[in-house]
Amino acid sequence: FPGYVDGVTGPEMMVQLQQQAQRFGTDVRDGWVTKVDFSGPVHKVWVNDTKEIHCQTIIISTGATAKYLDLPSEQHYLKLGGGVSACAVCDGFFYRNQEVVIVGAGDSACEEAHYLSKLCKKVTMLVRKDDFRASKIMAQRVRKTENIEILFNTETLEVLGDGQVVTGAKVINTATKEEKVISCTGFFVAIGHKPNTDVFKDFIYLDEVGYIKYEEPGTSKTNVAGVFVAGDAADKTYRQAVTAAGTGCMAALDAERYLAAKH
Ligand code: NDP
Repeated sequence: FPGYVDGVTGPEMMVQLQQQAQRFGTDVRDGWVTKVDFSGPVHKVWVNDTKEIHCQTIIISTGATAKYLDLPSEQHYLKLGGGVSACAVCDGFFYRNQEVVIVGAGDSACEEAHYLSKLCKKVTMLVRKDDFRASKIMAQRVRKTENIEILFNTETLEVLGDGQVVTGAKVINTATKEEKVISCTGFFVAIGHKPNTDVFKDFIYLDEVGYIKYEEPGTSKTNVAGVFVAGDAADKTYRQAVTAAGTGCMAALDAERYLAAKH
């Protein structure tokens, strides 16, 4: 993220962003949006099933959640911050000159494997079928990278570790039923994201995966007047904090112009 000469952690940056917004008068409230009604001229949002909020404009920035394998061992090390990650761009740096595993076979997995190959000593890529889902060009790039080993027909049985940090992965070749242990300090999962947009689906147009569709490309407008979107809820390509901040700025400007035109 630009401007942080010495780097910054995600949680630290989120606190700073909140404090900066509050300095400009933003009223920040916590709660889960459990229901919305965008059918009338006034948009309605229910928080924690109880509190009802009415507004003229709304910016959806609910993000997308990375999918995991949901193995107990994977979740254990994920929660501890002990070596499981779904973001190579965010965490790859911590595994410089080390050996890592990445699960997935789509464009994201290929892009992230290639990214990791530049930092890490060795990248082992686990593909559950006998071929990639990724585009030919992305798959080709991975195949051509010397320090990436691709294991097809391979699924993870367990993420291994000493209780605190990851030390390996136990995998199985589903064709031969052969099991083996791969030594690694980082276990990356790149099997797709699920946008957090279910609550809007009755009113807002979503694509087949659930990403919000822009009504007008190059803006933050959705199909409902006064409802705008920013960040990963509508972005399956870039998914970075800095691009989300940029679309957040676009949405704020669009919302302001929408209100100005109404009054
Ligand atoms: P995808 O849905 O395209 O791919 C997910 C991959 O994860 C699939 O290969 C799938 O395997 C695998 N997978 C799913 N569940 C499991 C599991 N439980 N165990 C092992 N493997 C699993 O997601 P992506 O995030 O890769 O891409 C999302 C979209 O973003 C795509 O449209 C993609 O093209 C686009 N994108 C484009 C980029 C670019 O052009 N530079 C970069 C990144 C993303 P299987 O194939 O067996 O189903």
